[in-house]
Amino acid sequence: MKLLPVIPESRRPIVISGPCSAETEEQVVTTARRLRACGVGVFRAGIWKPRTKPGGFEGVGESSFPWLERVKRETGMLTAVEVASSRHAESALKAGIDILWIGARTTTNPFAVQDIANALEGSDVAVLVKNPMNPDLELWIGALERISNAGVCRLGAVHRGFSEYGRGLYRNAPQWRIPIELRRRIPELPIFCDPSHMGGSRELIAPLSQQAMDLGFDGLFIESHCDPDRAWSDRRQQITPERLAGIVSSLVIRDTAHIDDSLAELRCEIDRIDSELLSLLAKRMDISREIASFKREHGLSVLQTRRYNELMENRSREGEALSLDPDFVRSVLRTIHDESVRLQMDIINR
Ligand code: PEP
Ligand code: MN
Repeated sequence: MKLLPVIPESRRPIVISGPCSAETEEQVVTTARRLRACGVGVFRAGIWKPRTKPGGFEGVGESSFPWLERVKRETGMLTAVEVASSRHAESALKAGIDILWIGARTTTNPFAVQDIANALEGSDVAVLVKNPMNPDLELWIGALERISNAGVCRLGAVHRGFSEYGRGLYRNAPQWRIPIELRRRIPELPIFCDPSHMGGSRELIAPLSQQAMDLGFDGLFIESHCDPDRAWSDRRQQITPERLAGIVSSLVIRDTAHIDDSLAELRCEIDRIDSELLSLLAKRMDISREIASFKREHGLSVLQTRRYNELMENRSREGEALSLDPDFVRSVLRTIHDESVRLQMDIINR
């Protein structure tokens, strides 16, 4: 792949930001002006929204193009929208949108990506390809190749995490080793991180952005809204332009040429394991709640001493077989068990 810069500005991090969805002209223009005042050069807005279930807000569609034209005219920002079909791509090109992005659900489907690629043949638009929903690096690279084969040479990738069953710390698990491998396979490809869809919450945007910078990502793709609590979609993960500016200015940008790759990879591995531990803990607590309902129905007491003693004995033996210190295992389990008892008491006494 021979690639040109996606955006003619190259200081790390390149920031692309804007609302999950364009809602009204006022919301689009106000958000863009405030972002511009914070130094952001590229404005994103979803205008066709992929929704998990029917009946949600599906985007304002083409009627928002004049709003985006106004953003461009009045602020000088570049504009970016998501396209999921050749029809979307053609209409975004006609409206003069500068950057198109392919969403995670679309990247998952090679027919849809090829359809978009065909519509882009001969245009010089920049395209960002989000990772597919599932952790499949080949599928992600395949989508990038389809777009590249159509002659698009301003191409970038957006890492937004991978979908998993059940509730975890993240809305979409980072699995950092996948974008790290993408960088190894296509070193000249700019990679952005989308901490908004990855974390699914405002609090996770800063730590995830810092991790992305530590791993040498080129840019950030972050959802912002002039009034996040009243956003029509993805409310919990949107922040104001000013909070975004605060996060970006507090990032520590290290010279990645000197990052010790193996240390970064080991840290990634630790992060991944911690998030697995947290999601396992959440699952354990869910089951504990179910047990509490059962105990309540059958008039059983919360604490059953024999079961508790057995559990401690068995687990510390299992732990020892895995070279874990038995005192350490007992203390971790005691903490977990205390929390479980607290949850069960709550349910039983409700
Ligand atoms: C988005 O960026 O608004 C979006 C829908 O993201 P994703 O495709 O990553 O879910
Ligand atoms: Mn969103």
